[in-house]
Amino acid sequence: MSSNPSVSPISKRLEGKVALITGGASGIGECTARLFVQHGAKVLIADVQDDLGQALCHEYGSEEIISYVHCNVTVNSDVQDAVDTAVSRYGKLDIMFNNAGISGNTKSSILNSDNEDFMRVLNINVYGGFLGAKHAARVMIPAKKGCILFTASVASVLYGELAHAYTASKNAIVGLAKNLSVDLGQHGIRVNSISPTAVATPMITDSLRMTKEDAEKFVASAANLKEAVLEPEDVAQAALYLASDDAKYVSGVNLVIDGGYNLTNPSLA
Ligand code: NAD
Repeated sequence: MSSNPSVSPISKRLEGKVALITGGASGIGECTARLFVQHGAKVLIADVQDDLGQALCHEYGSEEIISYVHCNVTVNSDVQDAVDTAVSRYGKLDIMFNNAGISGNTKSSILNSDNEDFMRVLNINVYGGFLGAKHAARVMIPAKKGCILFTASVASVLYGELAHAYTASKNAIVGLAKNLSVDLGQHGIRVNSISPTAVATPMITDSLRMTKEDAEKFVASAANLKEAVLEPEDVAQAALYLASDDAKYVSGVNLVIDGGYNLTNPSLA
């Protein structure tokens, strides 16, 4: 038995693979879509921001490389259609990246927390991920292989007095990912989650209504490594690793990407 590690060509780590990325029109999902294309994958973006998603695909000029489908991750038939579109357009589905998510209102303690906001966050961040995994498994089980990834958050390992819905949703998705890794391992399907600390994406600047300056301060305050804040590409690189065959025996892992921040800062609030 040889113990020599095989060297995969660094430039094309996803050659021949097909990926579906929810929330791929913006932020982490968009950056991951671009990185996956660079590494040879065919990518289908599923999002509700049709203009942004279509504009991103038009940049590449060919549906053969990357294309868009409208998909609200909380609507079963939308997610079913998105998975079926990946298979009919590109022949199969190797990588399901359940990345779409929202922050909800992160500034309220429990008595001020809005019930509808809580349900909306859980619906998109958890039920949306559940539907993505379920429909991906439907086509991956017969293929006897596949990779399902979720974007969770450092909020899955870091707690505070605010952001109850977001924290609950991200803990739920990590639990779901681990459970699925047990359920689906027998079918050759790996399931993992990624948990980044704060990244300057529209989720921070638009949804939390922060100015660019405040967003920069917030992102810097949630970082641990000196003179470096987390960039969307750092998260995309982690997704690339987990999606690639380099991680072929990695399953059931919640990969925290925070430079060690959660170890030194026990509260997110
Ligand atoms: P973003 O707002 O740039 O991207 C989120 C995308 O999800 C958007 O394109 C949005 O249209 C899409 N989306 C929202 N609801 C949807 C729905 N119902 N159906 C389909 N698509 C929907 O934000 P981002 O920071 O790139 O967020 C991506 C993921 O990363 C989220 O799950 C978020 O919770 C997680 N995350 C973000 C941060 C951060 O600081 N930005 C940190 C940790 C984890």
